[in-house]
Amino acid sequence: MTGQRLGSQSWRSLATLDASLLVVPLGATEQHGPHLPLDADTRIASAWADRVAARLPGAVVAPPLPYGSSGEHQGFSGTLSIGQQALRGVLIELVRSARHSFELVVLLSGHAGNAEPVTTAVTQLRHEGHRLIALFPTWDERAVGSDVDAHAGRVETSLLLHLAPETVELDMAAVGNTEPLDALLDDLRSGGVASVSPNGVLGDPAGASPAEGQRLLDDLVDRAVAATGEYLRSHADL
Ligand SMILES: [Zn+2]
Repeated sequence: MTGQRLGSQSWRSLATLDASLLVVPLGATEQHGPHLPLDADTRIASAWADRVAARLPGAVVAPPLPYGSSGEHQGFSGTLSIGQQALRGVLIELVRSARHSFELVVLLSGHAGNAEPVTTAVTQLRHEGHRLIALFPTWDERAVGSDVDAHAGRVETSLLLHLAPETVELDMAAVGNTEPLDALLDDLRSGGVASVSPNGVLGDPAGASPAEGQRLLDDLVDRAVAATGEYLRSHADL
């Protein structure tokens, strides 16, 4: 099931949809190991947003933002980062503009590295009186059998096997750095992912499957629908 797409509407047809809620997928264009595509996060965010919008009355899906804050992946070919400051600016302007047409904006980020600019943009926008929520993927550790799966490991490989198997080169998949993220943070900040993982993977893709990807995505969708419902209930004047 997919949601209504903003980009496919005219301004006139949008009015007949009675759309009040805009779901915006936030992606990234960054390396995802030797086996996953550079647009992995954008694909995950788009699929997430599509399924969330399908379950929320009055929701439409914005075109995805395909760039994010990915400086930590710059050591790998093909990574295109707009950095924290630009992303923060884009989100602030985008939500200000969206709020002329929509009561509520839901930002769904497929890329954890967007956290800092997204969080500061949300703080600023709420201060201005705008209504929005921002969510990031979180995984139940038991669902994937490991708490070390930060990037291009089993979780993202399963999601891509479910969403776009033709983009996954499973024979190229290999274990990366499997140390807990906390232990790597200092090195990540100073030297980026390349300094701790030559193949760009933080975690291990072994065991990934399309069925697991579907389960993980369903769970993400359930939680985003619940979080949006919760926000709407606590702002009942919407
Ligand atoms: Zn990713």
